[in-house]
Amino acid sequence: MTEFDVIVVGAGHAGIEAALAAARMGRRTLMLTLNLDHVGQMSCNPAIGGIGKGQLVREIDALGGEMGRAIDETGIQFRRLNTKKGPAVRATRAQADKALYRTRMKRVLEYEPGLACRQGSVERLIVQDGRVRGVETQVGEVFSSRAVILTTGTFLKGLIHVGDKHYSAGRAGDFAAMNLSDQLGALGFRVGRLKTGTCPRLDRRTIDFSRLEEQSGDDPPPLFSFASTGIRQPQICCHLTYTNPETHEIIRSGLDRSPLYNGTIESRGPRYCPSIEDKVMRFATKERHQIFLEPEGCDTVEIYPNGLSTSLPLDIQIRMVRSIAGLERADIMRPGYAIEYDYCDPMLLESSLGSKLLEGLFLAGQINGTTGYEEAAAQGIMAGINAARFVAGDPPIVLRRDQAYVGVLVDDLVTKGVGGEPYRMFTSRAEHRLLLREDNADQRLGEIGYRVGLVRESARDRLQAKERWIADEIRRLEETTLVPSPAVETALARIGTAPIRQPLRLAALLRRPEVSYAELRTLETSGQPVTSTSADAAAQVEIEIKYGGYVARQRQLVERSVGIEDVGLPANLDYERIAGLSNEAREKLRKIRPRSLGQASRIAGVTPAAVSLLAIHLRRSGLT
Ligand code: FAD
Repeated sequence: MTEFDVIVVGAGHAGIEAALAAARMGRRTLMLTLNLDHVGQMSCNPAIGGIGKGQLVREIDALGGEMGRAIDETGIQFRRLNTKKGPAVRATRAQADKALYRTRMKRVLEYEPGLACRQGSVERLIVQDGRVRGVETQVGEVFSSRAVILTTGTFLKGLIHVGDKHYSAGRAGDFAAMNLSDQLGALGFRVGRLKTGTCPRLDRRTIDFSRLEEQSGDDPPPLFSFASTGIRQPQICCHLTYTNPETHEIIRSGLDRSPLYNGTIESRGPRYCPSIEDKVMRFATKERHQIFLEPEGCDTVEIYPNGLSTSLPLDIQIRMVRSIAGLERADIMRPGYAIEYDYCDPMLLESSLGSKLLEGLFLAGQINGTTGYEEAAAQGIMAGINAARFVAGDPPIVLRRDQAYVGVLVDDLVTKGVGGEPYRMFTSRAEHRLLLREDNADQRLGEIGYRVGLVRESARDRLQAKERWIADEIRRLEETTLVPSPAVETALARIGTAPIRQPLRLAALLRRPEVSYAELRTLETSGQPVTSTSADAAAQVEIEIKYGGYVARQRQLVERSVGIEDVGLPANLDYERIAGLSNEAREKLRKIRPRSLGQASRIAGVTPAAVSLLAIHLRRSGLT
């Protein structure tokens, strides 16, 4: 038997962050996975980030995680999304070179001091006296530890469907883990079933790109990591094509053999990431759907046709693909498929992602009913931090909803669960989204990352310098006056804004909707230079000045709500003794056992009146 502080089961996006966090915090860590060649595998689309997800990646990076650095080193097309919309919903997305991403992650894990990587299928948790003590693999190897983090993704009883063919697998090309979820069920975890799906992969050499619209990335590429200074790898183009009425007819002709439509699959999939058959049926009047042809890497001919997720039979997939412009002769290299898998109800977790049922056990990633690499990685880093702290006897780190999307994600999971369908992050889930932007993730979380031991002193110094720069620049713009002159008038006309008749503060000019900070800088020669590494700082100057009123209002709202967030509810509170609570509220509170009045207030069925009753009870019992 080999002894560890923390064992991480899984080397997907959650497992990587969990294992690195625990090891970097000084715990002896073991990462066990089914296939060491598939570390950091992107099961579905070769891309990281996107709206709501890019924010998560930057937060992971600010906390000292790996995902941001990995995609900056292996991304082959970077874009800022929603640049014409408000700052709260702008986000970065990058296409990854899938194989490079995997190799890079494997190298980082292998060279991390204090982290052992092993291949093996965990079949059983070792449990003693209500505590997890380690794990046993299918070949009978036993590893003991004080904490175990399960990050098993779609692998628990994974069942793949392609038309009327079904087989057991964790994802295409990987074995499923068949026994672990039965043990979890026996231990009292509420185990449910979800589904997700992916597209067929096409051979680039059989696609006619000449008729297709090209889409290139931004120049310069926007970066994810606060530590990155630039992109060294080559950048590529994607292409755009569309389905058509003939494609839709072919899809409809195969529905009787589609596991989604003939009742074979009963579990729910992500609504916002529908299969092409779902789209055709739900939006019957729509004549075409967009398909992005995304290269899976520079050293492969595989193309991911984003938008064509399907579990239709292979003969229908081939006809469907070949009915699309540019794909008339396209060959499928891997068929699309749907997968059903077991997940555990996250409402049986604490906000630390530790289990309420079994001390020392943490769960992170798709096993908690989420979908997406970023959602998984975000839970992974938090589970890794909190498992490491649990082993040391330190209290968990729980991020608030006004502090991070990671906080919103974890709070949603443990308070509301996933409601029977895979949970993904949207900016609309965050009530304080104007505060939770990509550009300020380091200011929100860098200090926490430093305190727990994941962010280095040098990165913290850089952060403090950036904060000083922003404050100085805002002050300078508020204090510096632009005086009318013919040269200024010409420059203002060039920007497309009205001339000034009176001297005007630079900040007032920047508040004009049509004037950007970059354009403002072209009007003046003084001031601090905006280098590429301070693009985030420049964004913050612009947002703080342009949207200062909204930002201040959100901060006030947060300050007002901090009151109830800080009022703790004892884990053993007897809700039967609190008079006046409705049966529904009592039942939900007993089941979820919220840790604060704030968390209680977000539970469906716990009304503001019930929250007041709880507050009164706490006061009368001398608990506040
Ligand atoms: P995974 O990345 O699945 O990693 C799980 C890890 O656990 C693997 O390393 C595996 O080897 C290991 N493991 C499992 N069981 C054991 C065991 N018993 N012992 C040892 N190791 C074990 N997300 C989206 O956002 N949009 C999509 O459209 C989308 N489509 C998808 C389609 C498919 C077919 C699949 C499979 C996934 C899709 N996803 C999609 C989900 C995305 O891939 C996952 O959300 C993400 O990879 C989850 O990360 P994870 O770390 O939780 O698990």
